[in-house]
Amino acid sequence: MTARPPLASRLEGFGASIFAEMTALAVSTGSVNLGQGFPDYDGPPEVLRIAREQIDAGANQYPPGTGIADLRLAISEHQQRFWGLRHDPDTEVLVTMGATEAIAGALLGMLDTGDEVIMFEPLFDTYAACVSLAGAVLSPVTLRPDANGRFCFAEEDLRRAVTPRTRMILLNSPHNPTGTVFTREELQTVADVATANDLIVVSDEVYEHLVFDGGRHIPIASLEGMAGRTVTVSSGGKSFNTTGWKIGWACGPAPLVNAVRMAKQLFTFAGGTPFQPAIAAGLRLPAGYFESLADDLQAKRDVLMSALAHAGLEPYASAGTYFVGADVRARRADGDGMEFCRAMPAACGVVAIPAGVLYTPANAAEGRHIVRFAFCKQMPTIEEAARRLAAWK
Ligand SMILES: *Cc1c(COP(=O)(O)O)cnc(C)c1O
Repeated sequence: MTARPPLASRLEGFGASIFAEMTALAVSTGSVNLGQGFPDYDGPPEVLRIAREQIDAGANQYPPGTGIADLRLAISEHQQRFWGLRHDPDTEVLVTMGATEAIAGALLGMLDTGDEVIMFEPLFDTYAACVSLAGAVLSPVTLRPDANGRFCFAEEDLRRAVTPRTRMILLNSPHNPTGTVFTREELQTVADVATANDLIVVSDEVYEHLVFDGGRHIPIASLEGMAGRTVTVSSGGKSFNTTGWKIGWACGPAPLVNAVRMAKQLFTFAGGTPFQPAIAAGLRLPAGYFESLADDLQAKRDVLMSALAHAGLEPYASAGTYFVGADVRARRADGDGMEFCRAMPAACGVVAIPAGVLYTPANAAEGRHIVRFAFCKQMPTIEEAARRLAAWK
């Protein structure tokens, strides 16, 4: 070993994963793990079948760098069918290794050292590290609960976050971890700020089909004047319960998508050959599939939320995604969500994630008392968690 620590300074502070710690606790205590944000059930059988057939048919070598043509076509058709967006499948659609690579590619492909990116916090865990890797600067705008427990931003906070160095806004709606689905008015505010300051918008829409209570996801690219400055990112993981396949995409104007491609080709070049035709078939499933996906999750959300409320863990609102937040202060006077999550597995047999780690360090106090529960589990698993929460003295 050399004397100098091996970790690049740009990655300092992004190491310790709370997800690993909480998963280990779940295993050692035999707890119901509602920390991890992935389903414990399979996706549509026809999608799984195509992947198996593709492997047998020899689809096991590198795909084209931009993705298999029929998947790019299916993504383009999907964007038009659901959201009325038009993208040329050859120049305006890029297949990536999950939404994660599309976001990393967008940040590393379009930001220069010192450029500023506005993001709404709490944040999905890879965003801040990618900003740091790009040598860019993260300007957080904090989402706070309103009287109905719905997390939203103050327009003046967003406007104040813009400086002459601001280059981009990274948006995530439906939002992980708060479950907020941005309204048309909120998106218009973001669009107005982006347009007035000539900013690029990167929009992470991986939960586009997981919206509850008859609500509707609105891609910011569909707002007037926004298609020309927006990269829309999504993936098949959350829509088809195939999070391990890592088939994602970026759609937008050719120069922006090309910048994403320039970076992403250096990460993986391309991958997931047998999964790409399977996700193409998923994207072409009838509307009923997507509706029942959301209805099924909504029922699980409802069971979990009422159990949380009965256990004195007041849940916030959740209009979409896999997640609901809860306030621990009624059960833990010091409001320490981290210690709460460390103690809950032994005390109650349920695991959650402290949301404080999903804020920028300077604002961690904003989320200290909030813990995140995932309800993307089989109903018996959710019901078992509910029983344990109910029995928790
Ligand atoms: C799950 C998730 C991702 C990652 O998507 P992959 O396709 O698995 O890379 C990105 N953004 C958000 C908000 C997520 O919750």
